[in-house]
Amino acid sequence: PAVPHEKKMNGISAVIPGWFSELSPMWPGEAHSLKVEKILFQGKSDYQNVLVFQSSTYGKVLVLDGVIQVAERDECAYQEMIAHLPLCSISNPKKVLVIGGGDGGVLREVSRYSSVVQIDICEIDKMVVDVSKQFFPHLAVGYEDPRVTLHIGDGVAFLKDAPEGTYDAVIVDSSDPIGPAQELFEKPFFQSVAKALRPGGVVCTQAESIWLHMHIIEGIVSACCQIFKGSVNYAWTTVPTYPSGAIGFMLCSTEGPAVDFQHPVYQIDEDEASNKSKGPLKFYNSQIHSAAFCLPSFAKRVIDSK
Ligand code: SAM
Repeated sequence: PAVPHEKKMNGISAVIPGWFSELSPMWPGEAHSLKVEKILFQGKSDYQNVLVFQSSTYGKVLVLDGVIQVAERDECAYQEMIAHLPLCSISNPKKVLVIGGGDGGVLREVSRYSSVVQIDICEIDKMVVDVSKQFFPHLAVGYEDPRVTLHIGDGVAFLKDAPEGTYDAVIVDSSDPIGPAQELFEKPFFQSVAKALRPGGVVCTQAESIWLHMHIIEGIVSACCQIFKGSVNYAWTTVPTYPSGAIGFMLCSTEGPAVDFQHPVYQIDEDEASNKSKGPLKFYNSQIHSAAFCLPSFAKRVIDSK
């Protein structure tokens, strides 16, 4: 949306010329801003507006429909947590499905596991994949793994058609529930995820911010409690370039061998954590895994009541 440029007075300025400001009805009354050094790409796909710019302090930044998806400096906090929280909670994951995640960052993390034999990814927007391969090689490196198969299409339809009981883990790396990702936050989608998982299989889905979106989180938790008969947990992490600087994950398991998400059964080993082509893990470790499930009281009250 167009915002009038104001002259900066006493630090008060809605939008500063030459800065990117993240305005959205999903966080009314606030807008995180980054100084733009250079615009590298601007395009419009069948699904969304795609922008890549060089920021002065967070490296290159990928923006979809005006909302920051990835910044080079802090992407590790998101990709490592959304992948290793579920995968370190089960033993020997073999088949993993990623929904969304077209930048390839989650693939990079999943492909660290030597037990994994098959990695499917279903991303709706080919432009995101192409742009990531061009501008974000440290993320798109995930596509170089021969275990990865890319499907361009809607994740909702892909999961509806997925054979029952196939995956050990499903990771839903989606954008916000406005636009193409809306259905990825709804009950029928979670039902398809549960069906595609093996007994005791796990899902980890991007689940918004406790500071901004408790009403959305409440809905996701309620739906998941009805659908996933194993465990249902909410975890969170800090990502400075995401709205409010925090992002959460919904972690659930299907009925079957019990999964205790708060106590990882697998400690990602030295080789996997310091892989040559992918670089070392920057954010995730076993301590931060368990700590991610500790919630502030206001959020705990709501989530535990479901
Ligand atoms: N990995 C990122 C990070 O570091 O934060 C975040 C988001 S990722 C780029 C979100 C992706 O979900 C986008 O590429 C978007 O095109 C994709 N997406 C949105 N709706 C989708 C759907 N229905 N099916 C599959 N992919 C979808």
